[in-house]
Amino acid sequence: MMAESTAESNTIFDDAIRRLDSAFSYAEIDPEALEMLKHPKIIIQVSIPVRMDDGSLRVFDGYRVRHDDTCGPGKGGIRYHQDVSLNEVKALAFWMTCKCAVVGLPYGGGKGGIVVNPKELSQLELERLSRGFIRQIADFIGPEVDVPAPDVYTNAMIMGWMMDEYSKIVRKRTPAVITGKPIPLGGSLGRDDATGRGGYYCIKELERIRGWSPDDIRVAIQGFGNAGQHNARLLHADGYKVVAVSDSQGGIYRADGFDIPSLIKTKNESRELKAVYCEGSVCEVVDAESISNEALLELDVDILVPAALENQITKDNAANIKAGIIVELANGPTTAEADAILNRADILVVPDILANAGGVTVSYFEWVQNKAGYYWPLEEVHTKLKTIMSREFNAVYDLMKKHRIDMRTAAYAKALKRIGEAISAQGTKQFFDNNH
Ligand code: NAD
Repeated sequence: MMAESTAESNTIFDDAIRRLDSAFSYAEIDPEALEMLKHPKIIIQVSIPVRMDDGSLRVFDGYRVRHDDTCGPGKGGIRYHQDVSLNEVKALAFWMTCKCAVVGLPYGGGKGGIVVNPKELSQLELERLSRGFIRQIADFIGPEVDVPAPDVYTNAMIMGWMMDEYSKIVRKRTPAVITGKPIPLGGSLGRDDATGRGGYYCIKELERIRGWSPDDIRVAIQGFGNAGQHNARLLHADGYKVVAVSDSQGGIYRADGFDIPSLIKTKNESRELKAVYCEGSVCEVVDAESISNEALLELDVDILVPAALENQITKDNAANIKAGIIVELANGPTTAEADAILNRADILVVPDILANAGGVTVSYFEWVQNKAGYYWPLEEVHTKLKTIMSREFNAVYDLMKKHRIDMRTAAYAKALKRIGEAISAQGTKQFFDNNH
């Protein structure tokens, strides 16, 4: 069914689009483009009945929002989380539009979500839910329409089921309908670590600009899933001191920094974050403090990387942030009110729509490879990703310096300019301007 407007609070979507207003004056585009971007193009709400393993029936709510498709098909992940709401999906879809525009991908923005705690479902239940969702939204997605991908608590296996289900519906193998697939089913090499790697390339550009030495830099990472783990791994390999990490259960802190490969190994084997050092398969516990997710954000570090969920840095804790740089791997970790406080404190925020764009960039590479039927080696993926991330990081950084604005406003101005030019190129307004 098509969703009706709900009485649900609009905060997160309103907060998201408010960022456009401050960027508008630097984008030099027609106000009509701004108006269009304030309204998602299509909103779908579905119910997904699932036969559970014990024979009972559960019905889950799901959403897909295509925010904009001026520059290309909608593009954006599908999230499985108990707190998913229509407003959250709308905000996430909006961010995807801006993110694709910042890095110049030929896409609009989309997002989907199912209200579910996936940890409570068996693998077979998860598969039935995922396939059921695709059956409900199949008419609204497609390689040239809207292309989903993984997000929080969805992964390559789920993307594989979804691609398979869609291919059955259209009676044609269609790998380009979804990205983030397993490699044997048409996934791209390098998609698994692309988000963390893209953020890492941003930090490498800052390293070049600021001339710092990695072993002097302390990093705290909130969220130790796909984005956070890979970012931590790459930074650690370069000598950065990753002194704190956390997951939904809480965090660990160690002033000397952690051996990140050991943390990743135990987290992925035991699903628990443990302060350990491993040699081969033997892991020893190392000295570390347990800290809460809230405390992690306020640690005295050089770089803070929120890589979990949105709304983590708010007006209540922004004044306590001690990091000089925040690299937003998560989508929307900072509220607009918090942004103002961080800007006043001269904290450099590399905004989500730039910092975590590595994921969608390699998703784009996957889509291109699927359409071409020709697959690239890993080095080519890394080189192409680095070229795009470094180039677009510097373009946003230069715009920030030129206008003396914060980096988020600069990123939105850049995105708005690209989308605004595409909207104006459709020519409708020009026709009236010329004839009246
Ligand atoms: P994930 O499911 O792999 O990991 C999420 C991590 O966050 C897990 O470690 C989880 O335990 C932790 N977490 C959950 N709730 C938390 C809380 N309240 N406090 C601290 N940690 C908590 O997800 P992911 O793919 O790494 O996504 C993380 C963020 O990055 C999300 O905001 C997502 O939208 C964004 N992102 C991901 C990608 C991608 O390609 N994976 C791309 C762009 C943006």
